[in-house]
Amino acid sequence: MVQRIGETVLKETSIRTQVEASRGDRLRVLIVGAGIAGLTLAQLLRRRGLAPVLVERAGPDAPNGYMLALMPLVDPVFEALGATEAYRSGSVAMNRFRIRDRRGSVIREYTMGGLLKAYGDYRGVSRGDLMEVLASSGGAVTHGITVTGLEQPGSVVAAAFDDGSEAEFDAVIVADGLHSATRDLVLTPEQVKVYDTGWGGWVVWTDADEDDDLGEELWGVGAFVGTYPVNGRLGAIVCGSRDDAHAGLDSFVARLRTAVPTAGDRMARVLTEAVDGRDAYYWSLTDCRSATWSSGRIGLVGDAAAGFLPTAGIGAGMAMESAWVLADRLARSDPADVPAALVGYEKAQRPRVEAAQDNSRNLAPLLFNDASFAATLRDCAARYIPLGIMLGPIRKLLEDRPAGVH
Ligand SMILES: Cc1cc2nc3c(=O)[nH]c(=O)nc-3n(C[C@H](O)[C@H](O)[C@H](O)COP(=O)(O)OP(=O)(O)OC[C@H]3O[C@@H](n4cnc5c(N)ncnc54)[C@H](O)[C@@H]3O)c2cc1C
Repeated sequence: MVQRIGETVLKETSIRTQVEASRGDRLRVLIVGAGIAGLTLAQLLRRRGLAPVLVERAGPDAPNGYMLALMPLVDPVFEALGATEAYRSGSVAMNRFRIRDRRGSVIREYTMGGLLKAYGDYRGVSRGDLMEVLASSGGAVTHGITVTGLEQPGSVVAAAFDDGSEAEFDAVIVADGLHSATRDLVLTPEQVKVYDTGWGGWVVWTDADEDDDLGEELWGVGAFVGTYPVNGRLGAIVCGSRDDAHAGLDSFVARLRTAVPTAGDRMARVLTEAVDGRDAYYWSLTDCRSATWSSGRIGLVGDAAAGFLPTAGIGAGMAMESAWVLADRLARSDPADVPAALVGYEKAQRPRVEAAQDNSRNLAPLLFNDASFAATLRDCAARYIPLGIMLGPIRKLLEDRPAGVH
């Protein structure tokens, strides 16, 4: 999948031009990373009349794709972006959710409407389509550049870029994702704790089927397969222990087919298509948690602050919500207030984000299960413990959303 931001909606702009445009701003903000959090933040600040400098290490054609399920947490963020309609037309409602056990039999099928309807829709969207929606109001970005140094002499942040240029800002926001290199300029390695499931997954795009509102997962022994609809396609992730990944996707799928010969038409087709030569990306299933989200005038947002496993389908939603809360605090700040604004943002968001992260971590041993006995117990429990209970902490976050944010 091809990254379309920069080619269509965002305007590729030199770093020099972006820095000059922000020079007269009442608050000069640099955002490092034009992913989900960084782009959300940039677009919200632009709507509040600021001209943040947005830089992205990848090129405009970098691969950009996996599928996302977005919790209704994102609804007020799209509203603030003026992009609700674009989001709804670029995504599909995921109304139904089906779980299959280690033998491929259906354990349960849920109506997501019943679980989440009180809070809004649960929707499937490709990351590329989401980036287009976020970019739809335009704005500048510089691709192929990153920050190599951040100093705080007095009441500014001096940033050095890898093209040799330098500039001063009132605030720098680190939004460069789970494996953030910019975070390393601010925090020590001891301040970033990584949680490693020992598993990984191949992400592959397959053709849509007629069940375009159905998410389906196979909870196997030593294997997990998730299939999620987005506009016109079905995204799939085929997961297993990283020790089993060395032999490659084809060999992994062949073993899975032997262990689980029947798991319904969709699983059979997805596994066939996964190994038919189309592109597959491999992700290690790890997350991370930063001990602090700010240092003076430098703040962290999204996965750079707290990275997510995909198990609860909430990392992107939390990244967008945090960017929204941060944008509101920055937009209401004078340069002198920035350190306090960042501390206030962390105080408001960190407990929420870490609760969602804990929920995602707690689901990992259920989904990524290597032992036959444990998987048998898991399958029994899954029959009786409703998904609503498993996602309890996230439902609480939906009930208790940030108030007074514009
Ligand atoms: C396979 C998979 C499935 C997922 N499924 C879901 C789901 O269903 N629902 C959900 O809510 N979440 C899901 N997530 C999690 C979600 O994608 C992340 O939580 C979310 O992308 C975090 O946003 P971010 O902006 O912090 O990071 P990213 O979206 O990763 O963006 C970081 C950006 O920074 C750029 N960058 C990196 N390094 C630098 C640098 N040094 N300088 C400048 N730029 C840099 C990157 O190129 C990227 O554009 C999933 C994740 C994966 C991997």
